[in-house]
Amino acid sequence: MTDGGPFFDDLGDLRTQMIRTAKAIVDDHWPSPDRCPICRVAACTARGNAAYYLEVVGEPPYVPNLLTRAA
Ligand SMILES: [Zn+2]
Repeated sequence: MTDGGPFFDDLGDLRTQMIRTAKAIVDDHWPSPDRCPICRVAACTARGNAAYYLEVVGEPPYVPNLLTRAA
């Protein structure tokens, strides 16, 4: 996606930072095994919001690498 123009470069950086943050939230709030380890509920709002943001900005659904996490 090309926005073009110097004005949008800052927004691109912000978008990249937001995506990075959203993925970190998904990582932290991923159910283990069946509920959020932070919120202690199955339906974690933080993870839902982060996943929704990624969807809105056009990112593919993000899933933590469970193989490395399980090690
Ligand atoms: Zn949570």
